[in-house]
Amino acid sequence: MKVPFTDLKAQHAPVKEELCRAFEKVIDSGEFAGGPFVAKFEKDFSAYCGTRHAVGVGSGTDALRLTLAAMGVGSGDEVITVPMSFIATAEAISLTGAKPVFVDIDPATYTMNPDLLRKVLSRRTKAIIPVQLFGQSADMDPILAFAREHGLRVIEDAAQSHGAEYGGRKVGSLGDAGCFSFYPAKNLGAIGEAGAVVTDDDALAEKIRVLRDHGQSGKHHHTMIGWNGRMDEIQGAALSIKLRDLDGGNRARRSHAAEYERLLSGLEDIVLPVTGANRSHVFHIHAIRSSDRGTLMRALDEEGIGYGIHYPTPIHLQRAYQFLGHQRGAFPASELCADTFLSLPVFPELTPAQVETVAAAVTAASTACVTA
Ligand SMILES: *Cc1c(COP(=O)(O)O)cnc(C)c1O
Repeated sequence: MKVPFTDLKAQHAPVKEELCRAFEKVIDSGEFAGGPFVAKFEKDFSAYCGTRHAVGVGSGTDALRLTLAAMGVGSGDEVITVPMSFIATAEAISLTGAKPVFVDIDPATYTMNPDLLRKVLSRRTKAIIPVQLFGQSADMDPILAFAREHGLRVIEDAAQSHGAEYGGRKVGSLGDAGCFSFYPAKNLGAIGEAGAVVTDDDALAEKIRVLRDHGQSGKHHHTMIGWNGRMDEIQGAALSIKLRDLDGGNRARRSHAAEYERLLSGLEDIVLPVTGANRSHVFHIHAIRSSDRGTLMRALDEEGIGYGIHYPTPIHLQRAYQFLGHQRGAFPASELCADTFLSLPVFPELTPAQVETVAAAVTAASTACVTA
């Protein structure tokens, strides 16, 4: 049995007609960006996250970049984040003119290690961006306490953790602002590119609203230099519909992960995902670690099982960031993960038989490599 890594067609099938009807309404309305459908989704999503505001923007990268810009982060400033993330986290910092400063991840949860913050703090540090990687929150209490102690802003990169919780609160609502991506493959995905910032800070939300629309505070009245970071109406309409299935999708992902845990927990050379204390995991990515990834990849290829690697090269070792001067060995937990991670299919519509097929293939490959 072949198993794909993702299946967006299956995800859209039950809501396809409703989506098409909504798109017709958008076409007939004649408004295509930043209109009533976006406003409706902003209301829905802020209610879901438990924040006063949600501001719809063009992408997750825009959400991060607009938030940093609205906080006044720019040239000469430093922003602390992790090297084990999608490159957009660091890019958003760089695009403001500030410098990304990395701290390593915790080797169990793969999220920011709060104990390392003190080492990289400088007079230039303005903000911290913990990445809520793969579907779970970083350990936010010590990160928030450190930020308070030193007057720093905290922006959650929540692009992979829609609906995850920390201490009973939704990811994105924990720091000063939470940044989401609705790239189609995320737990909540648009029919194209979209993102949002959630926050309780009235002034910050207002500034992001102005910045996302060319710094326009009233028609033809540009009070700041912004850019085009608006969300499309089509995406707003689609996201309000798809938001209703987010919790159901997350429950399905969690149950697949529990099944993988049951079927794979005895394997010596496989490390399974760990959910940190006080947290709920929504498994955007189900990354296992394998001491012999090459063998495992060949076995999955042979069986027609889709997999991914998130991420094979940590950001500090990407060519684009060579100018920061980090060598291999600088962030050992991130590097170990990059060398051993392998993401198994975990999308909501997987069937129990497909989960068993994937687990059987992993088991066969891993037994073969232990006895070899
Ligand atoms: C997807 C993602 C982003 C960027 O979102 P886009 O909508 O693709 O711009 C940022 N950070 C992380 C951790 C992501 O996974």
